[in-house]
Amino acid sequence: TPRPGAYFLVMDFEATCEKDARDWVHEIIEFPAVLVDAATLTKVDEFRALVRPTERPTLTRFCTELTSITQADVDGADALPEVLGRFEIWLGRHGLRDAPAAALPVTCGDWDLEKMLPVECRRKGLAVPAVLRSWCNVKKPFAAHTGQAKAPGMAGMLTVLVLPLVGHHHLGIDDSRNIAAIVCEL
Ligand code: AMP
Ligand code: MG
Ligand code: MG
Repeated sequence: TPRPGAYFLVMDFEATCEKDARDWVHEIIEFPAVLVDAATLTKVDEFRALVRPTERPTLTRFCTELTSITQADVDGADALPEVLGRFEIWLGRHGLRDAPAAALPVTCGDWDLEKMLPVECRRKGLAVPAVLRSWCNVKKPFAAHTGQAKAPGMAGMLTVLVLPLVGHHHLGIDDSRNIAAIVCEL
């Protein structure tokens, strides 16, 4: 059994969206996780699934332009219940189903785990994985590190730390890897 705090579990969901649509009901369309060994700061494994939205199955052009995720990508993907099942199996392979405190989820902002996942799970009658019920917003340790009251977004934090923005900003796996780089640098 891994010890408490053995891992960082860096995550960044992408979701259906529309420009300037405040009351849009989001559904997750990409579910990525980067598992980092907290002692060695090396990447242990990654999980990534595209997710097929079922409430509003057609992606907006704005969403595809933002994320680079296409309609064909999500049409061929599993829906959230199946993806959560596969994620739980993946967690189990790392001993994180029975020891949720062994991994600290880290996200950029609180939106992913405070709003996106729990609200969609409640709507769809799904359980939130135990490991994802508390988390660290990387902006807090970043602000403490730099002595600023408020941290910028992911791209701004990378710039301050002189780290490259690798891949496509707003694609969840690339965002997760870039946030993991921020975590390791901090
Ligand atoms: P991010 O992690 O910053 O890539 O954003 C996560 C999700 O938030 C995206 O997949 C969109 O659903 C939504 N989102 C991010 N930026 C915008 C934006 N400028 N306008 C509308 N929705 C956005
Ligand atoms: Mg995000
Ligand atoms: Mg993102």
